[in-house]
Amino acid sequence: MTDAPSSPLCRSCGAPLTRTLVDLGKTPLANSYIRKSDAPERDAQYPLHARVCDTCFLVQVDDVVPPEAIFRDYAYFSSFSDSWVAHAKRYADLATGRLGLTTDSLVAEVASNDGYLLQHFAGRKIPVLGIDPALEAAEAARARGVRTETEFFGRDTATKLRDQYGPADLIAANNVLAHVPDINDFVSGFARLLSEDGVATFEFPHLLNLLQQVQFDTIYHEHFSYLSLYAVEECFRRNGLRVFDVEELPTHGGSLRVWACLENNQRTDEPGLTAVRNKEQAFGIATGDAYDGFTSKVEAIRSGLHDFLQQAKAEHKTVAAYGAAAKGNTLLNYCSVNSDDIALAVDLNPAKQDTLLPGSRIPVRDPEALRELRPDYLLILPWNLRDEISTQTDYIKEWGGQHVVAIPNLTVLT
Ligand SMILES: [Zn+2]
Repeated sequence: MTDAPSSPLCRSCGAPLTRTLVDLGKTPLANSYIRKSDAPERDAQYPLHARVCDTCFLVQVDDVVPPEAIFRDYAYFSSFSDSWVAHAKRYADLATGRLGLTTDSLVAEVASNDGYLLQHFAGRKIPVLGIDPALEAAEAARARGVRTETEFFGRDTATKLRDQYGPADLIAANNVLAHVPDINDFVSGFARLLSEDGVATFEFPHLLNLLQQVQFDTIYHEHFSYLSLYAVEECFRRNGLRVFDVEELPTHGGSLRVWACLENNQRTDEPGLTAVRNKEQAFGIATGDAYDGFTSKVEAIRSGLHDFLQQAKAEHKTVAAYGAAAKGNTLLNYCSVNSDDIALAVDLNPAKQDTLLPGSRIPVRDPEALRELRPDYLLILPWNLRDEISTQTDYIKEWGGQHVVAIPNLTVLT
């Protein structure tokens, strides 16, 4: 599929973008939860069009929203997910052992959020430095004893931090590489801040899973890029980093953890790197074949959710949603679902409670509200946490309630 001549340019390599992955129309910002008291007549809507670069194969959405509009008031606190905090603890154990970190090391994290990760290093008396532009999350991190700078990360910030704190032996960057509009400036900041033998790790949802399992709801404005190892290596090479190992992780529906060093470092390539390269190559990740046909799979998911909600309505069944996650908002808005279809959404994060979901205007409440509403169906929006959430809300079975997921296809869980 090709677009009209005035194509936007690839944020990584600068080539014109002429191939569409999927065009999701216009939607509000997925994380712009609305306070009931100041709800505008209509939410601001922005185009959400995912394209593929035919040169470096970075999948990306049009750059329509300034990062300040997204991240300064970012309402996501990592520590509200038990499984994510446990994941962070395992990472701290692994990295400390693998890199031989001591009380003389410096561990930095870009997008350190509320200190969910660095707290595990600080607990071992390893000096830490968090970097995050979100003011509220940074406050929460400091309250945990995690030193945090409220900055957007890039080459200039890295230079300043290196002058102030010295070079870092480890820099973690979890679920942030996809969130930056200027990916080259961002990546070159790691090369600037790392010590000569330092290592940076990046975790991001793997594009291969997005494509194979039709995880189109992970496409939203805050995610500027959708990353394959192939596209990441292309970008890193341009900015002074070299990937030497890759792990496949179950988080966020299937993520990669990429281990990178400075380009001239002597570390040897590990088998994990070759394994993921081969897997991507077998899928044709650097050819158009991997991307064509995605749109029709997305349309099938929309029909599946529509049919389910129509039938529930016809049978006078109540539907609630669990997890006011950004990905849920992409799904609900693309499928034109509103509060007539889903009575309420619940979320553990108090910052999201008593708001309305952007676009769909479904009210968000504390999970306790489920006991009053007694919904027949509970649609789990963050399908990556479906086991954790269905266990936490097992009590809906008391009144015959059932859990439902919409992706990769509509399924009533039994
Ligand atoms: Zn490109």
